[in-house]
Amino acid sequence: MPQHDSHHSGHSHSRKKKEEYVWEWFWSCCNCGSHAGLSTTILLACPGCDHIRCEYCPMESAQILKSQLVTRK
Ligand SMILES: [Zn+2]
Ligand SMILES: [Zn+2]
Repeated sequence: MPQHDSHHSGHSHSRKKKEEYVWEWFWSCCNCGSHAGLSTTILLACPGCDHIRCEYCPMESAQILKSQLVTRK
């Protein structure tokens, strides 16, 4: 079985489960403040005010199942 080494260091979750989890980042709009939970991979700008994600926009990560990850080109 090939063992791929993790390039994540410092995270506390080291136990491997059967399901694969990935960390996805979500951001909140710092401009209008009324939009949150925006996917960083899908939404690059706020749907409410067209503010493009900047360094002041609050970010939060969530651990989701890899099978539930939305992949778009
Ligand atoms: Zn906004
Ligand atoms: Zn911002």
